[in-house]
Amino acid sequence: MKQATQKTVSVGSVVVGGPKFVVMAGPCSIESQEQLLQTAKHIQLHGASILRGGVWKLRTSASTFQGLGSEALSYAQKVIQQTGLPFVTEITDPRQVEVLAPVVSMFMVGARNMYNYALLKELGMQKKPVLLKRGFSALVDEWQKASEYVLQGGNENVIFCERGIRTFETSTRNTLDLNSVAVLKSRTHLPVIVDPSHAVGLSEFVPQMALASAAAGADGLILEVHPDPSKALSDGRQALSFTSFAETMAKLERLLTALDRPFVAGSSASGSVR
Ligand code: PEP
Ligand code: MN
Repeated sequence: MKQATQKTVSVGSVVVGGPKFVVMAGPCSIESQEQLLQTAKHIQLHGASILRGGVWKLRTSASTFQGLGSEALSYAQKVIQQTGLPFVTEITDPRQVEVLAPVVSMFMVGARNMYNYALLKELGMQKKPVLLKRGFSALVDEWQKASEYVLQGGNENVIFCERGIRTFETSTRNTLDLNSVAVLKSRTHLPVIVDPSHAVGLSEFVPQMALASAAAGADGLILEVHPDPSKALSDGRQALSFTSFAETMAKLERLLTALDRPFVAGSSASGSVR
């Protein structure tokens, strides 16, 4: 049930669901130390405050790149130390809690695992927040009910993430359902963010949908960014280049200013609220 006051969720030192709009960004998959560090520095410079990066990947085909696993996690640890950015990655199996918990500031539950109640129950027993993505074909109601597996376990720190749903439309990877942002925000007290990268699947349309998500009242975004999208080992077609990420962040800042929503720009603005 909707509570009178919106709940904020702290991801490391970053507050999600408060007045400030939060951008999380990084590569779909962590591919090397250099790739992650370069990306982390770039997104931080342009105003993102949380780093994403896949360690274990759940891919539709078992024959495609499955992530570098523990090697990627050690790269993430070094980059977190160097940049101070909180880190979020997908947990694909409850047995990964032990190795991920010391490194991540938030666990991500991917679309393919929204119905994995064993995983959700395990995360309900954790203290770190959970970013709960919507399943490809999940009703808002089912998605909200999935969150209750985490909440009822005692972990009240859940953030919803709309990432597009499967419809009859094939011109984009998925269909971005921004209705869900408005609906969920009216039904729950928890923060709601949007992942336009997986929703659209085509990098040229991601910026527009990022702006639309902010205008629809989302509390933040999660964006895929790669130093060279054409060489990405996963989801390169939807990854923003460094230039396009910087341009998107600049537009986002103007939009949020017009909407009277503070946006903490990155180190380029010395952390000031603009
Ligand atoms: C991802 O964030 O890289 C991912 C696999 O997303 P989703 O679970 O939404 O497909
Ligand atoms: Mn991806």
